Amino acid sequence: RSIATGPDLFAPERVNSQGFDLAHAPTLARIDQARTPWLTHSWRAAPLLAQDAAPLSPEDVINPSDLTPVGQVTPASPQDIATALTAASPWDAPASARAAALNKAADLYEDNFGELFALLSREAGKTLLDCVSELREAVDFLRFYASRIPTDAKPAGIFTCISPWNFPLAIFSGQIAAALATGNAVLAKPAEQTPLIAYRAISLLHQAGVPRAALQLLPGGGSVGAALTSDNRVNGVAFTGSTATALKIRSSMADNLRPGTPLIAETGGLNAMIVDSTALPEQAVQSIIESAFQSAGQRCSALRCLYLQEDIADGVLTMLTGAMEALNTGNPWLLSTDSGPVIDQTARDGIASHIAIARAEGRLLKQVQAPEQGTFVAPTLIEIPGIAALEQEIFGPVLHVVRFKAVDLDNVIADINATGYGLTFGLHSRIDDRVQYVTDRIEAGNIYVNRNQIGAVVGSQPFGGEGLSGTGPKAGGPNYLPRFCAPDRQHSSA
Ligand code: GLU
Repeated sequence: RSIATGPDLFAPERVNSQGFDLAHAPTLARIDQARTPWLTHSWRAAPLLAQDAAPLSPEDVINPSDLTPVGQVTPASPQDIATALTAASPWDAPASARAAALNKAADLYEDNFGELFALLSREAGKTLLDCVSELREAVDFLRFYASRIPTDAKPAGIFTCISPWNFPLAIFSGQIAAALATGNAVLAKPAEQTPLIAYRAISLLHQAGVPRAALQLLPGGGSVGAALTSDNRVNGVAFTGSTATALKIRSSMADNLRPGTPLIAETGGLNAMIVDSTALPEQAVQSIIESAFQSAGQRCSALRCLYLQEDIADGVLTMLTGAMEALNTGNPWLLSTDSGPVIDQTARDGIASHIAIARAEGRLLKQVQAPEQGTFVAPTLIEIPGIAALEQEIFGPVLHVVRFKAVDLDNVIADINATGYGLTFGLHSRIDDRVQYVTDRIEAGNIYVNRNQIGAVVGSQPFGGEGLSGTGPKAGGPNYLPRFCAPDRQHSSA
């Protein structure tokens, strides 16, 4: 493990997971040996409650790469939800014991990397590179929150954690770890598409010593989430997912929960990057490729709209479309794959219709090859007049490009801010004053200069947006855990 030492005011002692070096042949052999036994395994998931469950019948969980079942999930029944709410009990162990269990869980995650990588690839379509980053992030969240428990932390009570399918291990574990570190009882509702990995993660957390009454799993769809955000015994909600769902949760909480109950929401984005004529084209192109197409574009941080200064636009586009040709879309299990499938057929159909409209309008600049079976979408480049032409976030490997004139920089910044979202922003420029000028004016939670704009590192790059992109506080940062604690004034209102 690498230990960051030295004077660092934000994180005096930070321990991030070392991960795996995929350029090292013996490491690759070790990964293959660990994950291969799970290539044909069929997993099961069901509610994990403090008392007996009254489950419904199991349903198949589908591998997006070939549409075959990866296992089965039994969704939580209304009776399971009632049981979980009654049995939930905050974790009253000392902070040091809670931290020890979370650290132990991080070790168990690392020990089980073979199975977790297989699940991430087969249930969520993750490439090996994405599997490695996701496990690292999950482990980092567990250890970071374990090391940052406020000394006077009083838990809010019962926290509902609703997580997305795009980071079914990392974000799932991060929300839960924050709520548990501060002593809450957690009701975890994983995304409907990825319950199997959630079940394994909760099992490992229980194995590490987290009591069942403090951590219950309720797999299922929107009705489970709705029930868990409208019961007045719930004292807080952490949600990552679409802006539309966050708004629904907010109104349900306003109608049903006590006033002031925290909603920590991390939602969508319409993320832009500006590349000016002083940028290094090679560096910009690599950043664009990673930001737009890694994880098949299924990150809320991903680049959606690229602004290229017209003086360099043709040159950068030639290089960019060449780099897109070299991207390999296909089976995420294979090392040669750069981009896996999108999560399901609904997602693929939505993205495909967006691309079809662009094609019909003659705005398709480039589309590379992707397999026909499964839910693959070929990395695609579309020209648009400006970011205002994007009515919504297209959550897949589709990049939009806009040419702009140097004199229009202020309008570009205004257009980007006018989307109302504010998650990530990228800038490639070699002029210090311009970097200062643009970054002072762009309204976004995470701003990246002369690099890619994805993959925020826990503890170093707290992650979260403004406006329609979320409520804050940022995940993986110093202000996150206090939001899971009871404010003093709420004690008497219980
Ligand atoms: N934290 C992730 C990143 O920086 C994105 C999280 C998300 O997609 O929800 O890439």
